[in-house]
Amino acid sequence: MRKIILFSVAMLTAVASFAKMNYTVEIDTVGKYLNVRLEYVASEKGQQIAELQMPVWAPGYYDIINYPKYLTDFKATKTDGTPLSWRKYRRSTWIVDMLGADTIIVSYRTYADKMDVADNRITNKGAFITGNGTFMYEHGHKYEPVEVSYIIPDNWQHISTGLKAKEGTKSTFVVPDFDVLYDSPLLIGNHFVEKFTHNGHEYEFAFDPGDDYEGSTFKQDFIAMVDAATGIMKDIPYDNYCIINMEGTGGGLEHLNSQADYSNGRFKVEDRANYIRELDFIAHEYFHLYNVKRIRPIELGPFDYSQEAFTPLLWFSEGFTSYYSAQTLLRGKVISIEELLGIYSQHIYDIETNEGQKHMSLRQCSYDIWLDFMSDNKNYRDVTISYYRKGTYMGLFFDAKIRTITNGERSLDDFMRLLYNRYYKELQRGFTEEEFWQALHEVIGTGKQADDATALLRRYVDTTDEIDYDALLNPIGIALNHETWQLSLIEKPTKQAAKMRKAFLGK
Ligand SMILES: [Zn+2]
Repeated sequence: MRKIILFSVAMLTAVASFAKMNYTVEIDTVGKYLNVRLEYVASEKGQQIAELQMPVWAPGYYDIINYPKYLTDFKATKTDGTPLSWRKYRRSTWIVDMLGADTIIVSYRTYADKMDVADNRITNKGAFITGNGTFMYEHGHKYEPVEVSYIIPDNWQHISTGLKAKEGTKSTFVVPDFDVLYDSPLLIGNHFVEKFTHNGHEYEFAFDPGDDYEGSTFKQDFIAMVDAATGIMKDIPYDNYCIINMEGTGGGLEHLNSQADYSNGRFKVEDRANYIRELDFIAHEYFHLYNVKRIRPIELGPFDYSQEAFTPLLWFSEGFTSYYSAQTLLRGKVISIEELLGIYSQHIYDIETNEGQKHMSLRQCSYDIWLDFMSDNKNYRDVTISYYRKGTYMGLFFDAKIRTITNGERSLDDFMRLLYNRYYKELQRGFTEEEFWQALHEVIGTGKQADDATALLRRYVDTTDEIDYDALLNPIGIALNHETWQLSLIEKPTKQAAKMRKAFLGK
């Protein structure tokens, strides 16, 4: 999802500390401010100005947040305290006159009181800190190491994050570049922490609070899901993975080797429906470490944090991630086939019972998400759709079609692995829309049947054409009730459909 995305997480700790941007962040628990101090070293001798820029959005959160709105008391001085003049440029840039100084000190405060996974929040017992809303980058040093030290209250015990602390320190981090810094939120304070190792990889649960975790089967279910996901992708691209999960509303956000969530479902297994929703939600953010953080549309990295990153493929990045979150729970034997079909059915129902599907395609929904349909348009259900929902069952149709045309020899898993290996691992970049469809065609095969299948799926994505559900699903032994929009297993499938379904669902 970023230019230097191929820095493995292992390298995060190996970066030597020669950062030219050194941050210190002090947490003001009374005023709820992060007091930020930056020591900035010029890129070259005689540099006239430093152009410091704060992001206006956070990758994974396709909305303009305008972080500079939280910022106050910007100051710049030489190291001896001599004040330096500065001016604001447009919405997110501060230009400082360096007056021949090699090193300057910049300070500002940023307000931290919003319960949202892309925003900073300080409470009386902890702080959730996102890089996007805290740190300014400078173009000359954007892809260079940056060092950050946190000054935290003495009685706060834990710092939970995907980053590893600099050797010999508890709260100093050296990261390879700003893309990684912005991709590594922290939860600091007295939350519940559980750490464990599984198959040589370290995991950390950072839950605030953790009271409903006790007695829950969450840990074993999470591990089963991880094994299923890593089994599909056949690669584990992290040393350690951290889940920051806080009580509240605000959704989840995926990161390279962590996720941050505000959720209400949480870990009580007695409430099965709620518990599955929570598992599915966490599995979604987890699967994103492959799909969108590494398997990604070309527009999603390296990032321009000053403006929107328009892409027509979010239905794939989000929808297929949801398709796989339920799949990994099924394959990990955490949920039943009926529960899996229930999740997919809910999405079909929601789309089919709203007018929006007649007016907006998946492709358009992806591209136009930055218009923020839901905030002000009271008619949004009549004219727009959710790429999460329709994208999820589009994943089912892709899987069904690939399996049917290749007579069960290939599945959607092969397509995901092809994108991962070719674009993330070999070419080290994202894929264009055309490359995406070419890759699908390659997996489906050659000949007229394969041409037609690829064209059909593309038409369902690019247009609002009515979907022939039966033609897609019956060959894999699944039926859709066109009144209730519920999926079910066909009682007496053909021999061929039974074979397909067994390979697909194990039944
Ligand atoms: Zn997502």
